[in-house]
Amino acid sequence: MDQIYAYLDGELDRPSQELLKQHLLECPPCVGEYERDLLLKSLLQRSCACEEAPSELRAQILTRISVTVTTVQVTDC
Ligand SMILES: [Zn+2]
Repeated sequence: MDQIYAYLDGELDRPSQELLKQHLLECPPCVGEYERDLLLKSLLQRSCACEEAPSELRAQILTRISVTVTTVQVTDC
């Protein structure tokens, strides 16, 4: 899971990136974690870029995040 965050921050070297991509193909819980983090990152970038994201979009993102979190918690990784 730490590697996912490193990957998102662009801190992994080439071989580690390939290993992580391979793992994501085989491990849906990690994909959920990865996607949630991507969403959080884009949400943060949006809120930095302008005063606030459109409320409808923000609601959609938050809904999707909570759905993903529930999925991750239910499924044992
Ligand atoms: Zn995994």
